[in-house]
Amino acid sequence: MAWNRQRLRELLRHQLGDGLFIIVSNREPYIHRLQDEAVVCQIPSGGLTAALDPVMRCCGGLWVAHGAGDADRQVVDAHARIQVPPEEPSYTLRRVWLSKQEEAGYYYGFSNEALWPLCHLAYTRPIFETSDWEIYKAVNRKFADVILEEIGNRNAFVFIQDYHFALLSRMLKRPNIRTAQFWHIPWPNPEAFRICPQAEEILDGLLGNDLLGFHIPYHCQNFLDTVDRLLESRVDRERLQVTRGRVTTCVRSFPISVDSEAIAEQVADPAVEAEMTRLTRHYSLRQRIIGLGVDRVDYTKGIAERLRAIDRFLERHPEFHKRFVFVEIGVPSRIHIPVYQRLNEEIEQLVNEVNWKYQTDGWSPILHVNTDVPLTTLQAWYRLAHVCVVSSLHDGMNLVAKEYVSSRIQDDGVLVLSHFTGAARELTEALLVNPYNLDELAEAVHQSVIMIPEEQQRRMRKLRAHLKEHNIFHWAAGILSCLLQVELQQV
Ligand code: UDP
Repeated sequence: MAWNRQRLRELLRHQLGDGLFIIVSNREPYIHRLQDEAVVCQIPSGGLTAALDPVMRCCGGLWVAHGAGDADRQVVDAHARIQVPPEEPSYTLRRVWLSKQEEAGYYYGFSNEALWPLCHLAYTRPIFETSDWEIYKAVNRKFADVILEEIGNRNAFVFIQDYHFALLSRMLKRPNIRTAQFWHIPWPNPEAFRICPQAEEILDGLLGNDLLGFHIPYHCQNFLDTVDRLLESRVDRERLQVTRGRVTTCVRSFPISVDSEAIAEQVADPAVEAEMTRLTRHYSLRQRIIGLGVDRVDYTKGIAERLRAIDRFLERHPEFHKRFVFVEIGVPSRIHIPVYQRLNEEIEQLVNEVNWKYQTDGWSPILHVNTDVPLTTLQAWYRLAHVCVVSSLHDGMNLVAKEYVSSRIQDDGVLVLSHFTGAARELTEALLVNPYNLDELAEAVHQSVIMIPEEQQRRMRKLRAHLKEHNIFHWAAGILSCLLQVELQQV
């Protein structure tokens, strides 16, 4: 039987005992913002909240995160706590306040100018600023102090998210605390990682965890190789664990996913269908074949490569002029970082060039949407698109690929997917491509638009069956049951 919300709740209920369950992430599950002078509560998009919010609701735990909303301070109590979800308060969100300087050094600086490019091999050079590192350490310490204050002398399980908190588990090390951390981005090979001036401190920090999770076995192997090369420790490759001092860390892969059944239900909603009709009319898309790209604008996503491949496809196959429209949805992100500003400009320029080259009779090949689109609109695009192109140069998993597949409720459509995503290890019925090879990418787009319906269905059915089982609850249950077992074995 596939994992679902209910089974995940039961797992927690049985195994947690009287332990306190804590999630730590940079981004909060509920954010309060000012809109027209009123405070509104929003749920940031992404699978993490969808997976872990039900867990928290069931065990009444604590979620610690950076309070980033402009109305966040207005709604919390004197200890920066608020009960969430607003309509049915069942767990506590503890907000951690960061100054502009802390956000600049910890989030924009060390997390996103150093660790992000270090771990994604996309040929963007990491920037290691000692001052950013100092702030990163201080912010990890700040989170650790908040968590320790909340735990007191109770038994606690702490589930840490991502590369913003490489040092946290070591700072939390106590006999009454067990920690697991999930590293949502790739882990590179030792040669690539060792250029980081703080490599040893980061590895030592991560080895404070009882359990460390990556998306795919390859990232686990890279991590073990890196530890073996750079740090004094005992690496056991058979058991996939590292012992340093008195702490043993298990290293395992847990591929993150989406709530595929919920997505399939949501996209069948009349509101999504009405939006499909509206978009088709608004952009004159009747009778056109629609291609789709969806990303947070990032240099790891291969957006320029994708647009160049569309250009190459149209160059080679003029029979698709006026018949094919590629919708590129790119939400700007991390715009305070110069390399991201330049990327936005490059994409804008490329869209203009390709459109200028081909546009005729009211048809432009690329429709560029560079604002945040509402979920209903995004889902309508997923349903309208005959082909979705995911061309990441390097990506831990890539949830867009899984969302597209989950949305294809008629079992049609084609996913073109980069080999260099974690998703490519699972979604093997996609058309797998090397995004650095322009001809290959262009040819995959061509193959997808001429693929016969029976072949589309054969592939899509397999992809959908895989995601039905390997859903977001499967991911959460895998890592949480592993964490809870660690506790049982070591007590
Ligand atoms: N997304 C969104 N609105 C957009 C573009 C993207 O909500 O306009 C969501 C998308 O649905 C997906 C997430 O952002 O859930 C991107 O996750 P992914 O793993 O593909 O990449 P990441 O941004 O985490 O590197």
